[in-house]
Amino acid sequence: MKDNPAFAGQKELLGHPIGLFILFLTEMWERFSYYGMRAILVLYLVSTTAGDNPGLGWTEGDAYALYGWYTMFVYVASIPGGILADKFLGQKKAVYLGGIFLCLGHGILAIEAPWAFYTGLLLIVLGVGCLKPNISTMVGGLYPKGDQRRDMGFYIFYMGINLGAAISAIAVGYVGENIGWHYGFGMAGIGMVIGQLTYMWGQKYLTHVGNLVVAEDGKELDRPSLILDIFKHKNSLTGFLITASLSAYVWISAGWSYGALVLGIAFAVGIGIVIYNDGNKIEKDRILVTYLSFLIIIVFWGSFEQAGGLLNVYAKNKTNLSLGGFDVPASWFQSVNAIFILVFATLVGMFWGWWKTRGRESSSLFKMAIGVVIMGWGFLFMSQASMEVTYDAAGEILNKSGMHWLVLAYLFHTIGELCASPVALSFITKLAPERWVAFMMGAYFAATGLGNKVAGLLGEWSGSLGEFKIFTGIAVFCTIFGILVILIIKPLKRLTHGAEDDIIKDLEAEGFDLAD
Ligand code: GLU
Ligand code: ASP
Repeated sequence: MKDNPAFAGQKELLGHPIGLFILFLTEMWERFSYYGMRAILVLYLVSTTAGDNPGLGWTEGDAYALYGWYTMFVYVASIPGGILADKFLGQKKAVYLGGIFLCLGHGILAIEAPWAFYTGLLLIVLGVGCLKPNISTMVGGLYPKGDQRRDMGFYIFYMGINLGAAISAIAVGYVGENIGWHYGFGMAGIGMVIGQLTYMWGQKYLTHVGNLVVAEDGKELDRPSLILDIFKHKNSLTGFLITASLSAYVWISAGWSYGALVLGIAFAVGIGIVIYNDGNKIEKDRILVTYLSFLIIIVFWGSFEQAGGLLNVYAKNKTNLSLGGFDVPASWFQSVNAIFILVFATLVGMFWGWWKTRGRESSSLFKMAIGVVIMGWGFLFMSQASMEVTYDAAGEILNKSGMHWLVLAYLFHTIGELCASPVALSFITKLAPERWVAFMMGAYFAATGLGNKVAGLLGEWSGSLGEFKIFTGIAVFCTIFGILVILIIKPLKRLTHGAEDDIIKDLEAEGFDLAD
């Protein structure tokens, strides 16, 4: 495999293709700009319009609603972004285009005007959609089929993501909160420009990856038409109609936007069943498990992504931020998760390695379920924190909670993330039939997007229910949900038909050619 001519001249650094470090730096700066912007977005929205550093003066509910919709679209845009790359541009050019959208988007956010605000957000949605899924695919493409170094390559890349996220919340957060929100957004933009320049400079190391693949015989794969086929089969039509009628109800009770969202989900349900119908018996079982893992992903990110919304505002308004005379910017807490990842990733990886050698249950599904439970427990610290906050008769805050609660919450969130997130994407690529892998990757990011929307919704509900109930509710729900998955792990594993045991032998025995 190493003698594959495409990989022959590949220059290496520290035992990996140099291209990996170009993609590492590009994604590090891209995440610097995304997480930097995200760290101050909600704080900017809820800051009063008067004062030294005026914000938009939105209510918290409105801010969480925008946060939910926006971060949802950022990830859902991966689906058209992936299709654009697969069909028209190839990943390399799509990443290039995404980078340009992002430089413009973050740059425009630095301008203080309403048109600039919404234009900037829209460009960021388009930019992340073109860049994020495709740059990940390119990382995989750097290694020939079966190359043992690939997992390590993804691990290094993941460290780049979190290095970017860690430094950005500190830098952009400090500048945004203390000097001016728009300077913060501008700083995120500068980060993206550095990322784009690095990517442009590094093209010579990426000549063989991310190019548009044209089928040799010019024929398209024989696959069902996703939307039209919904209406051709009884089961897909029923699934679609039931969810669509629910959407009518939501439309009337909660407004057109949520109705449209559920209608979108109705199409997703229909398409999901069309893909299920397309599989043979073993594939059908595996597709079912893939869908369950999407549900786990939605629950996981729906809870976790409170970080940039509710937990961010909680840090700002209800946490005692003074540390020996220094006021810690609330947005700095946005880097705690990423710093913990850099510190604990290896340890958690080693733990699971040790666990496996002892012959214990170590399937991806088990790790994902444990991840949900541990992450959920993080919210118990926040329940404790919210009990410490006291108010006077007029509703003004008398006593704020300590910073250590947030740090402990993020510690558990991180350990949970390190169990669930690194295995989730590769699990899906192992389970999905090969002709559907690219689609399922997009669906994975879309599920993340839906999780982000759920996070925004929970933030909105905190207004009427209060933080204590929301935090405790998330902890209880995640624990029950995780335990339920663990209880049915045996039958679930049977449905995977050994996909995780020996993927290459197994799938190739079924007649699939495992492409990269
Ligand atoms: N935080 C990670 C990133 O920004 C993972 C997000 C996800 O997988 O949904 O890349
Ligand atoms: N931990 C997130 C992503 O892995 C980054 C963040 O939320 O700051 O990798």
